[in-house]
Amino acid sequence: MERESFPVTLPNGQELSCDTCGHQIFEQHNWKLQTTGMTFMNLDWANRDAVCFVCTACRRIHWFHL
Ligand SMILES: [Zn+2]
Repeated sequence: MERESFPVTLPNGQELSCDTCGHQIFEQHNWKLQTTGMTFMNLDWANRDAVCFVCTACRRIHWFHL
C-alpha cells in the first residue's frame, strides 16, 4: 500500500509539528474509533472516524477528531 507523506495544516491554521521531534511531514491514516473498549468506557461520542497523522521521523501518532 502506498503511503503519502505531507505537511499538515490544522483547522486553526497552524502547521502540525510533531510533539516529540518537531518534524512536520506526516502520513495520514483514517482509523475507526468504534471499539468494544470505547463502548465499555461509555464514550459513544467517540464512535466516529479518527484522523491520525504519523510522524515520518519518529513514528509518533497524533490523533485528531476532524
Ligand atoms: Zn516525530
